[in-house]
Amino acid sequence: MDCFAMKDGKCSVMKCGKCGGGTCHFHKTREEQAQSLEKVSERLRSLPEYQQEAIADKYYGGVRKW
Ligand code: SF4
Repeated sequence: MDCFAMKDGKCSVMKCGKCGGGTCHFHKTREEQAQSLEKVSERLRSLPEYQQEAIADKYYGGVRKW
């Protein structure tokens, strides 16, 4: 299956590691995942400086990864 989460034959998203196949609601291609992450980055960049700093401090060790 062409899913971004599939790594070495296991699902890296589900705890059990088994792929749910066509009914999985988390399925995305690598391209769709890259687009999703870019959308998140765009949203974060659109926030005021103080909010970006607060998010970077709280979740990314003070580093802005967007
Ligand atoms: S389709 Fe779902 S269960 Fe399968 S690899 Fe992707 S995220 Fe995991």
